Amino acid sequence: MHAAVFCPRCAAPLVQTVPALDTRPRKVCSRCAFVVYVNPKIAAGTIPLRDGKIAMIHRGIEPSKGLWSWPCGYVEIDETVEDAARRETHEESGLVVTLGPLLGAYSYPVRPGEPFSPARGIVVMSWAAQRCEGDLVAGDDADDAAWFAPDEIPWDELAFESTRSALLDFLAKR
Ligand SMILES: [Zn+2]
Repeated sequence: MHAAVFCPRCAAPLVQTVPALDTRPRKVCSRCAFVVYVNPKIAAGTIPLRDGKIAMIHRGIEPSKGLWSWPCGYVEIDETVEDAARRETHEESGLVVTLGPLLGAYSYPVRPGEPFSPARGIVVMSWAAQRCEGDLVAGDDADDAAWFAPDEIPWDELAFESTRSALLDFLAKR
């Protein structure tokens, strides 16, 4: 799951061991005792709504190239999840949004023995976008963008499990 071999702090080899006061094996630096914790990545995005239609982006890169998602991406280390949701929405769709209610935090743990997947080991947070300004333009990971009425959502061409889950929650709360 995590291929780190050398300490990210001092570059000495890592060893697999259960650190003091811990309960499971971790990769620990043989020189400086730095512990490499492997935690989920966090992604954040929004479901923008205007005139009864939802903005979605068509992914131009892997993972899930060629499929539709609401705008979403990884949270940077120096921003809040809310900042990330607004930033990713603007980067991928051109829209400037104000966050409405949090729809949910969708959690996809890595299952034992499962090979690496970008859709695992991730927590995806999604907000309804309350106000939504600007023109819808595909950017960043997207090669197309479009507005969908609820009955036009391409349910068979959605990019991720979280795409579907948040859309269902969004529609249920309207
Ligand atoms: Zn070290």
